[in-house]
Amino acid sequence: MQVTTVGSGDAFGSGGRLQTCIAIAATDRQQPAALVDCGTTSLVGLRRLGVEPNLIETIVLTHLHGDHFGGLPFLMLDGQFRRRTSDLTVLGPPGTASRLQTALEVLFPGSSRVQRRFQVHVQEHVDRQTRRLGWMSVTPFEVRHSAGAPSYAVRVEGAGAVMAYSGDTEWTDDLLPVADQADLFLCEGYSPVRIPWHLDLPTLAGQRTRLTCRRLVLIHLSHAALDSDLSDWEVAHDGWSATI
Ligand SMILES: [Zn+2]
Ligand SMILES: [Zn+2]
Repeated sequence: MQVTTVGSGDAFGSGGRLQTCIAIAATDRQQPAALVDCGTTSLVGLRRLGVEPNLIETIVLTHLHGDHFGGLPFLMLDGQFRRRTSDLTVLGPPGTASRLQTALEVLFPGSSRVQRRFQVHVQEHVDRQTRRLGWMSVTPFEVRHSAGAPSYAVRVEGAGAVMAYSGDTEWTDDLLPVADQADLFLCEGYSPVRIPWHLDLPTLAGQRTRLTCRRLVLIHLSHAALDSDLSDWEVAHDGWSATI
């Protein structure tokens, strides 16, 4: 499995980084088949890396904040204008279908009602229930983050590898099964001090030995976290990539 952090940043452009967007490809294919999260800046990141958005088959959403799902209206309209024909599956929290329709109408009025050459199939997470999507399977674990709908960490398995991702959350022991034996755990490292709803570096350092992932890489860092001592951590950046 090839994992690329198309966007590695938080909601606010900290460090000049794009919002969260993680591309996943089976190792024998260059073009990613799936995205995990699709922040508002995702099309910019995909184009920088030469990824064709019309060939993305599946988008998995951890939660319904704009820096994690706000890129969907742009990706759908881009597909409409550039004659996408293959269907798109969106797997997200309960409420994804209505939030997506609202986002489409706020940003581009009328866009939720147009005829397209492709269908968008929205499916919703059921906590800890694994769903098979082509060559991947996705298991969501509900976490602690306020987004107007449940928020999840996800575990993506396929091509003989496991990629785990915390999404946004304060520490919860529910992250232990998410990261269990994962080849890669992309983990929020938002803050250098403890705050509600997000992971902070001291808490994560204290829990590190309990996490059994083979590799932990930080993502979604605030200005303050980027300015702190990160020498003990591996940190993703826009365009960072790993084969697992
Ligand atoms: Zn976020
Ligand atoms: Zn969030």
